[in-house]
Amino acid sequence: MKRIKLFVLIFVVLMFAVSSVISTQRYTQVTDILTHSMKTVGWTASELELEMLKFMQALRRTALNDMSAEDLHLRFELLWSRVGVLSVGEETRDFRSQPGAIELLRNIKQRLVEIESEVLNLKMGNQNAIRIVQELKPLQTRVREFNVNSFSGDRAWAGLKYVHSLHNDANIFLLGLLLSGCILVLLLIRESAVNRKQALHDSLTGLANRHFFQRDLKKTITHAQRNNSRAAVHMIDMNGFKEVNDRLGHAVGDALLQEISSRLAQSVCSSDVVARLGGDEFGIIQKHITSSDECVRLAQHIHEQINCEINIHGYRVYPNVSIGISVFPDDAEHPDKLLNNADTAMYFSKKDADVCYRLFEQQMNDSVLRYRVLAESLQVALLHDQLQLVYQPIVCLKTKKIVLVEALLRWHHEQYGYISPPEVVSIAEKAGLAEKLNEWVLLKACSQNMLWRKACLPWIQVSVNISPAMYTRYDLVAIVSRTLSATGLPADQLVIEITEDTTMQDIESSPGILHKLRHLGVELALDDFGTGYSSLSHLKNMPFQKLKIDKVFIQELSNLPKDMSFIRTIINLAHGLGMKVVAEGIELIENYEDLYLEGCEYGQGYLFYKPVPSNEIEDILQENLSPIYFSSQDINT
Ligand code: C2E
Ligand code: MG
Ligand code: MG
Repeated sequence: MKRIKLFVLIFVVLMFAVSSVISTQRYTQVTDILTHSMKTVGWTASELELEMLKFMQALRRTALNDMSAEDLHLRFELLWSRVGVLSVGEETRDFRSQPGAIELLRNIKQRLVEIESEVLNLKMGNQNAIRIVQELKPLQTRVREFNVNSFSGDRAWAGLKYVHSLHNDANIFLLGLLLSGCILVLLLIRESAVNRKQALHDSLTGLANRHFFQRDLKKTITHAQRNNSRAAVHMIDMNGFKEVNDRLGHAVGDALLQEISSRLAQSVCSSDVVARLGGDEFGIIQKHITSSDECVRLAQHIHEQINCEINIHGYRVYPNVSIGISVFPDDAEHPDKLLNNADTAMYFSKKDADVCYRLFEQQMNDSVLRYRVLAESLQVALLHDQLQLVYQPIVCLKTKKIVLVEALLRWHHEQYGYISPPEVVSIAEKAGLAEKLNEWVLLKACSQNMLWRKACLPWIQVSVNISPAMYTRYDLVAIVSRTLSATGLPADQLVIEITEDTTMQDIESSPGILHKLRHLGVELALDDFGTGYSSLSHLKNMPFQKLKIDKVFIQELSNLPKDMSFIRTIINLAHGLGMKVVAEGIELIENYEDLYLEGCEYGQGYLFYKPVPSNEIEDILQENLSPIYFSSQDINT
């Protein structure tokens, strides 16, 4: 649209210039004609004067016997014919149009008529000829004056000068017009170049913008197709940029983006394109590559340039980027697909803390597709109550009686089959379904426990796992309290399991949330202990009643049966902090015995029970009136 406007403007200016040139040409023609006509008048007047002078000369020569009467008559005839020509005819119109010309001609004719008979009768040596000359003198003086005035006189020259100055003025005027036209066109071109730059560049960093990037990518692909060559797209996303912005302010954030942009621009070849595609997302089109090794080298170079300490406005910032790369034509042939694949690879690089870049692989798309399908299905499943809970009993190691059951999520997807609980939780968190999922599990587990109670089964606690996002982003206390009131389950019959890592995600708020939960009356269990990085001081501030040793440590005992020192330390630590210990994943009688001897209170594992549906728990609880007995074979069946 803008291009059309520019063309129209240039066209208008050109029309303006052309019409100015044409009109000035016309003007020049007019002045030329005018000058020509003045010259013609002047020339005609001088011809008349010359003819008169020749006639008067002939009269004098006749008086002096120097010219024959016939020659004198001829001169007289010539003068007559000159006057006749001047009086009529198209060519002498300019002469006649001069003021006083017609009257002058009339006077000459009258005088010639008066002297005609005398001249025709003059003979050689007749002194009357001199008298006639004297009589013609005043008329000749008038013709002279007329001639001088129209041709070489001041008035004529003033007129001519005026015409010339008009001519010069017109030329200056035309030059001015052309000059202003040129300036106008230059300004328009400059303005349009500025507009084009603004439309295709990012104002903060000066890099190309998404529009430019996409346009160039299309061109690059067409060129690569024609030349049978390769090109690559790098998607670069900053990690933790939001925190820099929130913590140090937008001015520092902007300066950081500018610094990253200039480092990116310096890292590539002059033919490559670097663009800012959005907030903290950048893109590079790497052209003319022969193999993906070159992409890897560029990604590593970018990583070295950016992942280091940068001083911004006196603050030390440690930027970190994740890079996804996809190569044309290996990974995709269409620009959009190439971009999507680079984006997917970048997403995978972000997920993996150990790598700074990832080359696109086809199975990445499968996993993205799997995520999309599952996220959609999970929403439907939550809406239509299609998820299930199984329950795994936890026994007291001393009495071997069930004291509580842990509710564990099960989801069978019609296309992908069994989806593990950690994957369900991660999909829910990414798809914004964390709150709904946790609320559903809580409600289901608490209602189930109430049903067992109503069926007059022995009273047992139910424990529910809470996902990280539920803990850090939503109001867990409100949901637990709502669930307890909705189901009527006594608060002390509910155990909330939170993993060590989850409590570490928000160290400042953790004690507050946990104390509020305790205030409701629910019990708290620290799940998967040993796999996270919590410190002793952190543990001391948190009101947990149970500590669950992660099953990897229990199962390691099978390999190193004698090495109980780590487990012993954990048990002592938990007891020191006033917590009871639950050992997860007990599969062997020996492990059970060792743990019992070390003072571990509770156990969970296939040795006792596997997770089972709620109706089977009813049977188990019926039998649980007496202690369970097991042997090593039980677990293998
Ligand atoms: P977790 O909370 O530590 O649960 C114990 C896991 O150990 C369960 O796996 C259970 O089946 C398994 N397990 C118990 N005893 C044994 C044993 O003797 N041997 C072996 N090999 N495994 C045993 P599951 O059900 O696959 O759950 C895995 C994890 O998924 C859970 O670990 C928990 O972190 C999470 N999860 C399960 N259900 C939910 C849920 O409803 N909400 C949330 N947020 N997380 C859940
Ligand atoms: Mg658990
Ligand atoms: Mg666990």
